[in-house]
Amino acid sequence: MKHSELLSIIIPFHNEQEVISECQQRLSAAVNAIDMQVEILYVNDGSKDETLTILLDLMQQDKRIKVIDLSRNFGKEAAMTAGLDQAQGDAVVIIDADLQDPPELIAEMVSTWRSGFDVVYAKRTQRKGESFVKKATARLFYKLINKISDHEIPENVGDFRLMSRQAVDALNQVRERKRFMKGLFAWIGFSQTAIEYSRDPRLAGETSWNYRKLTKFAIEGISSFTQEPLRLATYMGFITALGAFGLGMYFIIKTLIFGELIQGFPTLITVILFFSGVQLLSIGILGEYIGHMFIESKQRPLYFIKKTYSAKSDD
Ligand code: UDP
Ligand code: MG
Repeated sequence: MKHSELLSIIIPFHNEQEVISECQQRLSAAVNAIDMQVEILYVNDGSKDETLTILLDLMQQDKRIKVIDLSRNFGKEAAMTAGLDQAQGDAVVIIDADLQDPPELIAEMVSTWRSGFDVVYAKRTQRKGESFVKKATARLFYKLINKISDHEIPENVGDFRLMSRQAVDALNQVRERKRFMKGLFAWIGFSQTAIEYSRDPRLAGETSWNYRKLTKFAIEGISSFTQEPLRLATYMGFITALGAFGLGMYFIIKTLIFGELIQGFPTLITVILFFSGVQLLSIGILGEYIGHMFIESKQRPLYFIKKTYSAKSDD
């Protein structure tokens, strides 16, 4: 006898044809062990491979599946948002397609949710198959963002989590376009708790992350959650002005004592380069925030759905 509460599972897919069937098998086995009704929302985020075809095939075999086909690739954040908007569940789980997040953990998440928590996130104790450099830079990023931002973002936590209906409704009200999900998850509040697991390497296919993207992600994350960098320019300006004043005094006194000597070319160049650097950096920081304002002010929708498929009716 199944419980009458509904559990929604959201999985974003972008070119994941190699992993889908394994993902479906493990997910299905994992949720069958849970005494809840289940709906599975597969979001196809503009895949260029056979992902959509395979998802639609699976849907014919498993009536719990709904497929949301986005009009193009909007990125994982938007794909998850599409799923969250559609999810009907009393509890909603977000999980990656590549089985880096073990679906077997969902049962534990559900029981933690039942014990009264609104958000149950999975915290990685180990990151298998990730390089030392990636781990070190990730560490540094969390240190930095938690130092300068007001809302604690837990380290080693991805998007894999369960959220109560109340938490999902709250998150769905936050429609900012630059969706730094890790930050938004933390920002909504409610009672949150972690369960620990060791993260496996990708099952197959390739991660769509590279260092260029990760750097962009880090900068966006910081600039959408704190205004501290804007103050950096003020601090730097103050300190360098103070330094320049000291240096000026030094030159005046030196000239008064030793007379005018035509020297100091290296000093001049160093000072010019230093100030140019400081100015460019400050303009860059301003640019980040103006960029955010530009994107937000356009008020565009976060994604477009091309078609929603469900087993009952192909509407
Ligand atoms: N994904 C997506 N849209 C994208 C990129 C990724 O929906 O533009 C999905 C992808 O199919 C997977 C999840 O997001 O289910 C995580 O992606 P990936 O494994 O590449 O990221 P990582 O695990 O390295 O953070
Ligand atoms: Mg992955």
